[in-house]
This record gives sequence, C-alpha cells and structure tokens, in this order.
Amino acid sequence: MGKVHETILEIDLKALKHNFNFLKSKLQSNTKLLAVVKAYAYGSDANEIAKYLEELKVDYFAVAYTYEGVALRDAGIKTPILVLHPQPINFKTIIERCLEPSIYSHKILNAFINTSEEESQNNYPIHLKFNTGLNRIGFNTNDVETVMSKIGTTESIKIKSVFSHLGASEDLNEKTYTNNQIKSFDSIVSKIAPKLNYQPIYHMCNTSGILNYPEAHLDMVRSGIGLYGFGNSEKEDSNFKPVATLKSVVSQIHSIESGESVGYNRAFKATKNLRSATIPIGHADGIGRQYGNGRGFVTINNQPAFILGNVCMDMIMVDVTEIDCQEGDEVVVFGKSPTAVEFSKTVNSISYEIITAISQRIKRVYLK
Ligand SMILES: *Cc1c(COP(=O)(O)O)cnc(C)c1O
Repeated sequence: MGKVHETILEIDLKALKHNFNFLKSKLQSNTKLLAVVKAYAYGSDANEIAKYLEELKVDYFAVAYTYEGVALRDAGIKTPILVLHPQPINFKTIIERCLEPSIYSHKILNAFINTSEEESQNNYPIHLKFNTGLNRIGFNTNDVETVMSKIGTTESIKIKSVFSHLGASEDLNEKTYTNNQIKSFDSIVSKIAPKLNYQPIYHMCNTSGILNYPEAHLDMVRSGIGLYGFGNSEKEDSNFKPVATLKSVVSQIHSIESGESVGYNRAFKATKNLRSATIPIGHADGIGRQYGNGRGFVTINNQPAFILGNVCMDMIMVDVTEIDCQEGDEVVVFGKSPTAVEFSKTVNSISYEIITAISQRIKRVYLK
C-alpha cells in the first residue's frame, strides 16, 4: 500500500475471508451461514462485500431495508436476500426484485399476502419472525396458531424460514434470559413443524450467539459484526481481523501560542505553546462531536494525538506537540490498532456504531 493522500476507508478482503472461515469453523457442516450486509455492510460497502462473499459461497444475505436489497440486485448479486425490516409500501418492489421479506406482524402478513396475490405469486418465499424476548419486532409466541391458519388460506406464499433474534447473546451474565429465548423458540418450532409438509430453515443466532450458544445454531446462523472483524469481547476479538481501517493525512500543522484558541467557539484554549495538526475528517464523516475536546484521538506515527476543541464538519485538529510528524504524514483513526472497539470506547460507544457511521463520501479502497 502506497502513501495515503486523503481520507480513505481501507477494506481488507483477506481479513473478511479469515473471519468468514473462522465463523464457518464454528459451525456444523450442514449449518448455513447468512451474511448480514445491512447498513452498507456495516460501513464497508455492501456491493463489494457481497460480491466477495458470494465468491466464498455464502448461503444467504440479509439487509434491513428494501432499498438495500435492491442495490445488491442492481450490483448483480444472485444469492437469496432476506429483508429484515420491510414496510408494506415496498412489497411490490420486494417481489419484482426477488427479495424475501421478514413477516413480523399480522398487519404485515396480511399486506404481503394481498400484494403477492395481486402479483399472482405462487409459493413466494417469506420468513416468519418471532419475538422471544427482545421486544423489538416479531410475532409473539402465542401467535403461532393464527399465523399458521392465515398462511393456510393462500397458495401465494411459502415459509422459507422461521427465525428469532437474541437480545443479549454477548452478555454471559444474561445466560438465563438467552436460554429462555432459545427454549421459547424451540417451542415455536415444535408447533410449526408438524403443520408443514416441508422443512423451513430455522435460525436465531447472531455473531455472539454463534460463539456462545453452539446448541442454538439450528439450520442457519446470521453473522454481521463477526464478518467485519469483531467478536464482542476481548477474548473473541482476538480470533477475528478487523476488515476496515480508517486512514487520513496531516493537512496542515500550526504552532499555537499560549492564550490562542483552536477551532469553533474557541472550545480549546492553549495554556502553553503547542503544535496542532489539522486532519480532513469531521462529524459529517462519522466522527461525532462527542469525540471532541480531548476524548477521541487519532494515531500518528504510532502515537495518540488527542482532538483539540470541537470536531468540525470536515476537519479535526489534534495535538501533535509531542509527536514527530509533518504535513502529509499518515493518520490512522481506527483499524488493526487501535481497533474500532478501542477508538469508540473513548466515548462509551461500540464497534457497531463507529464502523457503520463512516460517511459514504469517504472513498473505500479494497485490499485483495
Ligand atoms: C443486525 C442483525 C444481525 C447481525 O448481528 P451481529 O451481532 O452483527 O452478528 C442478525 N440478525 C438480525 C435480525 C439483525 O438485525
């Protein structure tokens, strides 16, 4: 990799392959792996990531919203795509673009049946989502009867899968809660299975579920954060490789005299002479204002340079008084070290938030 000349998000596809293989090594050979590529593949560019995962023969994709699935189809992705959180206004598009909806309420079920009948569909694949404790979206456990009898009234749809979502799979203090979710899903499965003359795919594990609850892998697992390099604990993180590295460059260096201020609203006032470096990345790029005023830092020549004053829209100024650096030097915001976990911890945030926040105006550069 040559010298960095502007802010880029470097995407390491070898790291993605490593994470994919590591997750596969945790699964029985007949358990399918669904790659969650919502939110621009957690900031890494869904099209490129999905194309590569398709080469690796991933079994399924999931996105949150319909238009994310449309973008994958436009990019030529052929693998089945589950839309986790669709709205009725998108149902026609879902069918036109061969996307598969999560059906999570009676209202959504009725609306999807109406659309698929209008569109003269036969056995259109749907995924039934059950709420087993997260209380986010999904049918309740006691909805099984009514859901199944409604589905029995139409030929237009077919249950491709039945799934639920764990609420605290990374938190080993919540094992009882998680085990109750697993039990509750088992009981849903045992009510649905005898009513069908075919076998849907049953699934409930996210990344931490894959790592912590092997008994709940069932027919398929869904991984997002693991593919992008994080295991939600220090121990598990060491098995993964972060895929994304956010890099930038020192644009300008200023000598600041004691008494001068740096940045908007004079939020930083120098009490001694110092050196500041201006970096072309700001809150419009995903580095929120909460990182300002000495909380967040970037890394220049392997040393932390803390943010001076407020984060601007397109820039930050950092303290390089003690760092041997010059204009044009490379800056690392997060990547292999510090990781997105370490960077986001400075503001009590998590890897998921910072990696999905990186603006699409930042160029993605792929390492193959
Ligand atoms: C986002 C999401 C996932 C992926 O979770 P990770 O913790 O990133 O592996 C899996 N299932 C559902 C329903 C999701 O919304």
